[in-house]
Amino acid sequence: MLKPEHIGIAVKELAISIPLFEKLLNSQCYKTELVETEKVNTAFFKAGDTKIELLESIDPNGVIAKFIEKKGEGMHHIAFAVTDIYAEMDRLKNEGFVLLNESPKEGADNKIVCFLHPKGTNGVLIELCQEKL
Ligand code: ZN
Repeated sequence: MLKPEHIGIAVKELAISIPLFEKLLNSQCYKTELVETEKVNTAFFKAGDTKIELLESIDPNGVIAKFIEKKGEGMHHIAFAVTDIYAEMDRLKNEGFVLLNESPKEGADNKIVCFLHPKGTNGVLIELCQEKL
């Protein structure tokens, strides 16, 4: 069974959204991290057993910038924690899901990640993430 690890939200400006989510969640942002390869700045909050990840684009042609251009700010993805990302990628591929990356890539928060195409998941971008050892 997959367990939600965090929910990713696309925002225009972390400088505005960090204090907003601190107020909303009544929880301090505990980490910000630049993920150069994904062209995003991220900010993390604890929210019960899960986390909220805010994503701000650092590149007008990056995936988050394009997402906001198309859909506006808002829910971007749901991430599920897995203990063996390779096995889970194989399992989901065999179930007919389309992987957006064929091998895991570096994510924020000390994780390796793989995304599933939202066309196969009722429009929700799904991230699998595994803690790096
Ligand atoms: Zn994420």
